[in-house]
Amino acid sequence: MRALILEQPGSVRLQETAVPEPGPGDVLLRVRAATTCGTDLKAYLRGHPQIPMPGTFGHEYSGEVAAVGAGAPFREGDAVMGVHSAPCKTCRWCLRGQENLCETIMATKVLGSYAEYLLVPARIAKLHLFHKPSGLSFERAALLEPLACVLQGLSLLRLRPEDRVLVIGPGAIGLLFVAALRYTGVGEVTLAGRNENRLAVGQQLGAKIEAFDPKSPALRGFDYVIECTGAVEVWERSLDFVVRGGTVVLFGGCRVGTTACFDTRRVHYDQITILSPFHFGTEAVLRARDWLLDPRFEVGPLISGKRSLDEGAQVFEDLRTGQGIKFVFEP
Ligand SMILES: [Zn+2]
Ligand SMILES: [Zn+2]
Repeated sequence: MRALILEQPGSVRLQETAVPEPGPGDVLLRVRAATTCGTDLKAYLRGHPQIPMPGTFGHEYSGEVAAVGAGAPFREGDAVMGVHSAPCKTCRWCLRGQENLCETIMATKVLGSYAEYLLVPARIAKLHLFHKPSGLSFERAALLEPLACVLQGLSLLRLRPEDRVLVIGPGAIGLLFVAALRYTGVGEVTLAGRNENRLAVGQQLGAKIEAFDPKSPALRGFDYVIECTGAVEVWERSLDFVVRGGTVVLFGGCRVGTTACFDTRRVHYDQITILSPFHFGTEAVLRARDWLLDPRFEVGPLISGKRSLDEGAQVFEDLRTGQGIKFVFEP
């Protein structure tokens, strides 16, 4: 089969590899849609602690079951959607309701959806692989993983109808936050960033748009600030934009080894809550699935076009230069 390999930062190559064989409980998928993600772009730009190189990559997918191992809960030909990880449900973190921090969730995740076939291991197939209804497109179904991340983050907030929320960074995750916040019906959503094309998509999704100028009075007094850039300078500035008693959500993971500085007076005397949610558990995945099944939840503008695996290297160059938001590989 053909698969995209991330050889090292800046280098993506299409390679012929063996089609994996499903073991007991595993599900082999014929990938129908695999969407690009900010995590993949980060790995392409600077490496990523969770994405080994050289290796296959891509973790957002939907597809059709091509083969199953003994006891797998699907049949050949089933249309399915899923995510690339599943909690163990038995470790200390799983048992206390922090499945996103499960001690083996990262070690057992699967990468490699930018390929003709993807082997979904038994643990994930059992918990986080679902039948895809025929009314849901493969490309929309592939958004299950990033939406689960966003909904895990939102589950930590107690949003009030009158709240003003600032999302910083109009990448795929920032825009998905805009879509999700609009869907929940929060008072006002402002999206700040530098890429005008991406900001325009945010506007289409119902956000107020602001150029990201940390000194701008338009970027003051928000109840919630959701940072989606993964740039440490933006992490540090995010506290300037939140109201007294408000919450800053530092969502974009920074480069390994980064340290950030905050004004302690602001954090303490203005009682700023700082959250930095990571990944997701089963509850967020199930909620994300429900939302994708609801046509009123608008995410169409996030998809920037369909590409073939042959265009892999070009797709990541396009993303690097700020073109497009999420491309869909149709292997
Ligand atoms: Zn993703
Ligand atoms: Zn666990």
